[in-house]
Amino acid sequence: MRTATQILVIGGGPAGSTAAGLLAKAGHQVTLLEREKFPRYHIGESILPSCRPIFEQLGVWDKLERHGFQPKGGAYFFWGPEEWEVRFNDLGSDGTNAWQVVRAEFDQLLLDHAEELGVEVVQGVSVRELEFEDGRPVAAHWAGTKEPSVTGRIGFDYLVDASGRAGVMSTKYLRNRKWHTVFRNVAAWSYWKGAKQLDRGPAGAIAVCSVPDGWFWAIPLHDGTMSVGLVTGKDDFNRRRTELGGIEEVYQAAMAQCPAVLELLSDAEQVAGMKVEQDYSYVAEQFTGPGYLISGDAACFLDPLLSTGVHLATYSGMLAAAAISSVVSGEVGEQEAWEFYGTVYRQAYERLLVLVSVFYESYRGKDHHFYNAQRLSEADRDELDLQAAFNRIVTGVADLDDAKDVYRRIRGHLGGTESGDPNPLANLNKVHERKQAPMTPENAVAGLYLAFHPRLMLRRADVPIIGRR
Ligand code: FAD
Repeated sequence: MRTATQILVIGGGPAGSTAAGLLAKAGHQVTLLEREKFPRYHIGESILPSCRPIFEQLGVWDKLERHGFQPKGGAYFFWGPEEWEVRFNDLGSDGTNAWQVVRAEFDQLLLDHAEELGVEVVQGVSVRELEFEDGRPVAAHWAGTKEPSVTGRIGFDYLVDASGRAGVMSTKYLRNRKWHTVFRNVAAWSYWKGAKQLDRGPAGAIAVCSVPDGWFWAIPLHDGTMSVGLVTGKDDFNRRRTELGGIEEVYQAAMAQCPAVLELLSDAEQVAGMKVEQDYSYVAEQFTGPGYLISGDAACFLDPLLSTGVHLATYSGMLAAAAISSVVSGEVGEQEAWEFYGTVYRQAYERLLVLVSVFYESYRGKDHHFYNAQRLSEADRDELDLQAAFNRIVTGVADLDDAKDVYRRIRGHLGGTESGDPNPLANLNKVHERKQAPMTPENAVAGLYLAFHPRLMLRRADVPIIGRR
């Protein structure tokens, strides 16, 4: 293993693999340290089409396609008084645009691909400490995850912190992670064999089904299992766990109130124990600093309602690679490139924050605790700075102009073509163009998907409208 590298990436999830792979492809020297030995389990199985141009740029799309993951034709929502759907292919796009993935396999493919592109990938090694000179990280001290007595130091010029929820920079050094108290949710999930296919909506869709105290995801996977998870408010979850006697009991009781999921699982067998995550919505106050960029979950994470985690991870990984590449080549200064990164990434995140909030505001079980818990009070709006975020999304012309200049100069570094380029500015412009549209949940979600993929279409499902209030 090297003792000095040009760019160090911490973490081999989608954010780290994307950043490292694109940087290596652009000719830079990159080392990536990952504390686990892959394949490793991870939640986050439903992928958005926005990842496609990034995977194409990495050159990994064909490999992913050959692997045989479950093609994902879109999303189907049993949400609110109506059922509705997002179709990824309705506007004549060619074949698969996204998948439902077993993350252990998906992440390994991405990491192996980064290695093939020239990244030095070292697994089973944890970054324990960073060394700073005048506030700039210059070296990492690592130790073997299973053999802590094996240690070393690696110096670097630039750092991408893609360490996921662990968040080396933001939790250990900056201490600038801000938790979204309004989305204080718990997710509890398991895997089922023999589940039925959804009898409506696009093939391979994720089903999102609201229940009185939260909502379920149901994701069909290519290994024959279905991932089925409950998201509910933390206080409510803890209360019910005490009342009912355990996590499994809370999960089953919620499921009993969800006809769509019950139908999918009517002949199925649960084949895994329960897994739980909580308090997973947060944002770091800054995503950049001297010599470093923070990407993916290490920077921010929003409620999984719209399956946006891997999108933000790969998107920010791509932006980080573009920003660093432009600085290393001497075409723009670090401050300018970092501003580009911070602006574009934060806007993408804030746009999703607005969309998820709008979505929860339309929650089906309006008489229930979950709705009230997710409902934004004025104080919450202030805390999330939602109005400001919304204003920035729909009127972000100044930000765009700033970023446009930098982007024009750096786009050449990643070898993108005009048609295949995942040009973040074009994405933001599309949202800007939509600013006149009222922010209903449908428009919000359509905005999200259209922003990242021009050929998607949202349409109301061809099913009877039920229970309109
Ligand atoms: P990760 O994938 O977490 O990778 C970070 C890596 O860093 C890990 O491999 C870790 O081992 C490594 N690491 C950490 N610390 C160190 C260290 N000190 N040294 C070395 N290595 C280190 N997203 C979706 O897109 N679709 C979904 O359907 C979806 N569902 C979700 C459901 C739930 C309940 C939750 C909680 C999340 C969900 N997500 C979903 C989000 C998704 O899982 C994440 O956003 C995504 O994995 C982020 O990728 P990442 O590369 O930033 O981080």
